[in-house]
Amino acid sequence: MKTNNLGYPRIGSNRELKKASELYWSNSITADELMAVGQSIRKNNWKLQYEAGIDLIPSNDFSYYDQVLDLSLMLGVIPEQYTAFAKENSVLDLYFAMARGAQKKGQDVVAMEMTKWFDTNYHYIVPEFTKDQEFSLFSEKIIDEYKEAKVAGYDTKPVIIGPVSYLLLGKEKEEGFHRIDLIDKVLPVYFEILQKLQDAQVTYIQFDEPFLALNLTEKEKNAITYVYNEINKRFPKIKLLLSNYFDCFGENLAMVLALPVHTLHLDMVRCHSQLDDILESGLLQSQVHLSLGVVDGRNIWKNDFKKTLALIEKATDALGSNRVWIAPSCSLIHSPCDLDLETNDGTLKPEIKQWLAFAKQKIEEVVVLCNLASNEITENDQASFEENTLANDKRKKAKIIHNEEVKNRVTAIVDKDSKRNSAFAIRRQQQIDALQLPLFPTTTIGSFPQTTEVRSWRAKFKKGELTQQQYDALIKKETEETIRFQEETGLDVLVHGEFERNDMVEYFGEQLDGFTFTKNGWVQSYGSRCVKPPVIYGDVSRPNSMTVKWATFAQSLTPKWVKGMLTGPVTILQWSFVRDDQPRSVTCTQIALAIRDEVLDLEQAGIKIIQIDEPAIREGLPLRKEEWTTYLDWAIKAFRLSASGVKDDTQIHTHMCYSEFNDIIQNIAAMDADVITIECSRSQMELLDSFADFNYPNEIGPGVYDIHSPRIPSRNEMVQLLEKAAAVIPTDQLWVNPDCGLKTRHWNETKKALIEMVAAAQEMRLAHPTAASAI
Ligand code: GLN
Ligand code: ZN
Repeated sequence: MKTNNLGYPRIGSNRELKKASELYWSNSITADELMAVGQSIRKNNWKLQYEAGIDLIPSNDFSYYDQVLDLSLMLGVIPEQYTAFAKENSVLDLYFAMARGAQKKGQDVVAMEMTKWFDTNYHYIVPEFTKDQEFSLFSEKIIDEYKEAKVAGYDTKPVIIGPVSYLLLGKEKEEGFHRIDLIDKVLPVYFEILQKLQDAQVTYIQFDEPFLALNLTEKEKNAITYVYNEINKRFPKIKLLLSNYFDCFGENLAMVLALPVHTLHLDMVRCHSQLDDILESGLLQSQVHLSLGVVDGRNIWKNDFKKTLALIEKATDALGSNRVWIAPSCSLIHSPCDLDLETNDGTLKPEIKQWLAFAKQKIEEVVVLCNLASNEITENDQASFEENTLANDKRKKAKIIHNEEVKNRVTAIVDKDSKRNSAFAIRRQQQIDALQLPLFPTTTIGSFPQTTEVRSWRAKFKKGELTQQQYDALIKKETEETIRFQEETGLDVLVHGEFERNDMVEYFGEQLDGFTFTKNGWVQSYGSRCVKPPVIYGDVSRPNSMTVKWATFAQSLTPKWVKGMLTGPVTILQWSFVRDDQPRSVTCTQIALAIRDEVLDLEQAGIKIIQIDEPAIREGLPLRKEEWTTYLDWAIKAFRLSASGVKDDTQIHTHMCYSEFNDIIQNIAAMDADVITIECSRSQMELLDSFADFNYPNEIGPGVYDIHSPRIPSRNEMVQLLEKAAAVIPTDQLWVNPDCGLKTRHWNETKKALIEMVAAAQEMRLAHPTAASAI
């Protein structure tokens, strides 16, 4: 039996890489200094895994920005727009320019597109392919890192994204071909890499083909078979480890089991039945090993050794112990680094800390599990086993997890609870009467610029350097100025600006029971950007109202409507570490009930328009299409549960961004929000076609300008976008708004842009003077 790891966090336990990269980007340290930080992180990671007892330690899992971009560089996939830049700059600067754009010595290049890595919150840089794309070995990172580890005393297992997944991760930059057709062109460069690794005496290579967890076309499946047969033909001595994660092999299983590989890695956390499916199929070749991904690489809970050992035993009974490897379910880049850094400063409840394991602890779990399963049990292993059993038992029974009242409320939910009193058409008339808004009403998505000053108030308040009174006075002043600004600009539906909020999930998590926070539980989101998701450990409830104070304060300042602003249950769930002892749907329902109570409190306090943001609803979709319906059913229901308690004339808004929504438009309609504001300015309103095709029944505010860019949009271009919208959607259904919150922008840009936006709405009113009452 061997222990295997697929990848270790590369940001450094104290985010050393983030800090060094940002210093390098601001010209405060040299490339050599940055390289030294990278080297030391790699060395520490190898050492840590070696000392813990990992047999197959990964290399090339490190990256200065993103592993997909690393591979693009290795394969020479560099879009033409960087040619001039490449000539005048180092490879490192070219790499960063592709990742994040660059303005240097008169050269001005934009960043490549970035998108989410499967269903994680990690973002990768999307490779771009042309029809006659050429590939050539441009960087030898994987070989260099293998050699570097060897010099340091570690014989590692290089990790590389397999050619089929690499092509599928990218996109075609022109028409007339499918990127999978490039397989014969890219393969020779992989051969070159393999040859060099073989020359350097490599034993194992890990090929990641995460697309095996998705529905593949025949052509794509054939490409997999072709690629691994070709590799095996040319490099029979290299032991190929083919890894799949995030879901089952599904209908790809038979094809995968016929491949000439040394080891198959299975994600046993996401696909409990995978081992049974393989054993029952009778198709596993007699020499193939299985790497069992039993330790959850995507969540922060301690493994349940008893359960896992039973599973391992099933595998060893069937295959013998030397064909079974123990591993985390996927790369540990999706886990925070080290639980030991959570010192008892009150951030993470100590009772909860003993139930958790971060990357370093997960590595230890893999080793102990292997020892326990192979009967070479030392006293330490025995102690770990007992400690693990005790912690899991305690967690199951812990009082702080269970709240009977919440459980009863969930069981008592009836269909009616997730339905508004009346159908949209009836509600709408009541809202028109109650709200008296003009045609093309203007609004924003919620947040206004979060200046360094505003951030500093929150930080000082947290540290106790500002009293509640002082802090409130500052936030009040900022909120009032924002209300006045919106009035002056002529916006119709105002917001309070969200100055009291650090983050749209954390703000609510901090006020809900069942949530806790880490001090240092950072996970890479993209490049140097890391997130620190809250931990949902128990039944969720809302001890007090969370937003009423600021919403009513803002409303008291103005005769115009101020929207109440909430984060929806699906987004709170999606951006947290979620408990693994009950289905996600149950946790989501509990959050929905808490939000529902907040919605009702806002309504009670006189707030007539309430927005429940759900930007993450699309990214929660399962990887396999056949599982979409189940997810969408409970997710949409949770949103409706949170929104449906209100009276007919209270207007519910929702907001969505970061994704394409074309394929779930029906489900979005099923959310039955009175108004949806949605990101679509970058796609030039393409999205609206699907809204129109489907005849979206409720009101829509298609974002008319991109808030991610400092650029001020012109009135004219917004009018044009609105005309596009008006061509497919009845004008009395349209709202006018930016495509997301404004918190990352500066005030001067925001002011100019909103003035233009309001003017664009006025032009539309003149051009389309249908009276709202005529509907
Ligand atoms: N109301 C939030 C804001 O404006 C929405 C953020 C989001 O959609 N990501 O900041
Ligand atoms: Zn948004």
